[in-house]
Amino acid sequence: MAPFWLGTSWKMTKTLDEAAAYADDLRSAVEAGSVPPEVRLFVLPAATALASVRDRLAGTGVALGSQNAHPGPDGAVTGEVSMSMVRDAGASIVEIGHAERRTLLSETDDMVADKVAAAVSAGLRPLICVGETSAERAGGVTQDVLARQLRHALSRLGTLRPIELLVAYEPHWAIGDGGRTATPGEAAEGLAVVRRVLAEDLADTPTAVLYGGSVHAGNAAGLVTGLDVDGLFVGRAAWTAPGLLDIARRCH
Ligand code: PEP
Repeated sequence: MAPFWLGTSWKMTKTLDEAAAYADDLRSAVEAGSVPPEVRLFVLPAATALASVRDRLAGTGVALGSQNAHPGPDGAVTGEVSMSMVRDAGASIVEIGHAERRTLLSETDDMVADKVAAAVSAGLRPLICVGETSAERAGGVTQDVLARQLRHALSRLGTLRPIELLVAYEPHWAIGDGGRTATPGEAAEGLAVVRRVLAEDLADTPTAVLYGGSVHAGNAAGLVTGLDVDGLFVGRAAWTAPGLLDIARRCH
């Protein structure tokens, strides 16, 4: 049976103690058998907590990822961490192109493409985020924007192929405080564009397509049953381990 991916980015939150407590709660839940077996959990801590969370989750099957990494080789780039450094710290996934990085930190399609290629060469699974702004949706260009973002993200792979690729459709207007969850119709439209581009541009690679944006325990089951989706990517509602575990139990 294909796994159902369920993950969370902790974004810029959590002290080391808070990260450890979350990881310990997850470990206990996995050991108690309270995570449905088909659910493949993943957690993206801040870079500061990666190694300690890796140690606490060792052997649980919970995958670990980084929220970002620089595409260049190790060297003189002050304030950045490289793909090989996050891998060394325990990441098997690296998130690339999240809405907040695109809008708050001016991450461009070119930067995303460089990071995807660098992640794959470092043996990491890219988790590529694509999504339209509310203005783009209102302007009727959602499908064009999503196709452009994903095609561009994959455009520098050459002959490199990820062992597995994760793509999250996350409408920018659905993310964070004040966001509203996409309706099943809106989400289905975005997910279909992602699947079409993947089939055209990367048909030979195992991929999982996720939905993200204001997912919580109350709407997760409806999203899963109503959509052609391989997983959910969650922010705020999974910033506590019970929050993530509650969603995991409702997904299946
Ligand atoms: C996100 O930022 O990727 C996200 C899904 O956030 P939230 O669930 O808080 O909307």
